[in-house]
Amino acid sequence: MDTTMQFQVYGEQALLEDAKSVITDLEKQVSVTDPNSELYRINQEGTGTLTGHAATLMQEALTMCSRTDGALDISIYPIVRAWGFTTGNYQVPDETTIQTLLAQVDYTKIQYDASTGTVTIPEGMTLDLGSIAKGYAGELAADSLRKNGVKSALLNLGGNVQTVGSKPDGSPWEVGIQDPSGDSSMMVLSIRDQAVVTSGGYERYFEQDGQTYWHIMDPATGHPADSGLLSVTIVGDKGSICDGLSTSLFVMGLDKASQLWSQSDDFEAVFVTDSGTVYLTEGLKDQFALTEDYADTKVKVLQR
Ligand code: ADP
Ligand code: MG
Repeated sequence: MDTTMQFQVYGEQALLEDAKSVITDLEKQVSVTDPNSELYRINQEGTGTLTGHAATLMQEALTMCSRTDGALDISIYPIVRAWGFTTGNYQVPDETTIQTLLAQVDYTKIQYDASTGTVTIPEGMTLDLGSIAKGYAGELAADSLRKNGVKSALLNLGGNVQTVGSKPDGSPWEVGIQDPSGDSSMMVLSIRDQAVVTSGGYERYFEQDGQTYWHIMDPATGHPADSGLLSVTIVGDKGSICDGLSTSLFVMGLDKASQLWSQSDDFEAVFVTDSGTVYLTEGLKDQFALTEDYADTKVKVLQR
C-alpha cells in the first residue's frame, strides 16, 4: 500500500504475522499496479470479479462515494495519475487534458453486483481503492487480533491509526494529530478500540511556481481539493468509513463536512483550517488535549 506500517501488539508473536497477512492478502487483491490483482484485471478488461474482503471493500467504497455525493470517487485515478501522484513525475496537466479525463470520472457508472462480486466499468475508467483500503485493512487486522483474544494493540498504517482495546495498563491509547503546517503533534486524542484516520494536503504534494499541489483531488474540478482545510481527522469504530470520510471531507470543506457530520452518528472529526483554527465535533470534546507548544491554538467545538 505504498507506506510503512508499524504494529504494536500485546500477545504472542504469531498474532502479528496473522494481522500482517490479512493486510498483504488484501493488497494482493486490490493493488492497481500488480497485474495479478483482481482489481487490475477489472481495470484492464472492463469487467471482473472481486472476492472475499475485496468484495466487501468495494461495497463499502461505493457506499461512501454516494454518501459523500461524489466527493469520494473511486474512479478518480486517471486524474491522480495525470498530476503525477502515481509515479512521482509531478506536473500540472493542461486544462484540456483534465477535462477529457474528468469525463471518465463518475462512480455512478460503476456496476457492482454484490451477490456475485462482479464489477463492470465503462471503457476508459480506472478504479482505485487507495483512499479507503488502508482504513479497511486496519479494521481487518484489528478484527483478526480481537478474534485471537488480543486486548491491546496499536496499529499504525501510514498515518491511519487503528487501536484494539486500550493500553495494557487499561488507560486509553493516545493518538497524536500532526500540525499540518509543521512537524509536531498539535493535539492528542484518547482512544479505545477505534480508528483515527487523517487526510491532509501535507502528506504528499509538490510545488510549482509558488503553488502547492497535493494528492487529494476534487472530483468536481480535477484539481487538488482547495476547500480551506489543511487536514481532516476522523474517529470512529470502522476504519474503512473513517478513511473514506477523511479523504472526502477534506474535499468538501468545513461547512459541508460538518453538515454531513451532524446528520451522522458513526464518526467524530477534527478539522484544521488554513487559518489555523481547529474545529472539533462535540463527541470528542472530553477526549482531546492540545500539546504544550500548541496550547494557544483556537479550538471551536461543533454542536449538532
Ligand atoms: P493517504 O492514502 O495519503 O493516507 P487518503 O486516504 O486521503 O490519503 O487517500 C488519498 C489517495 O486517494 C490519493 O493518493 C489518490 O490516489 C486517491 N484520491 C485522491 N482524491 C480522491 C477522491 N476525491 N476520491 C477518491 N480517491 C481519491
Ligand atoms: Mg482516506
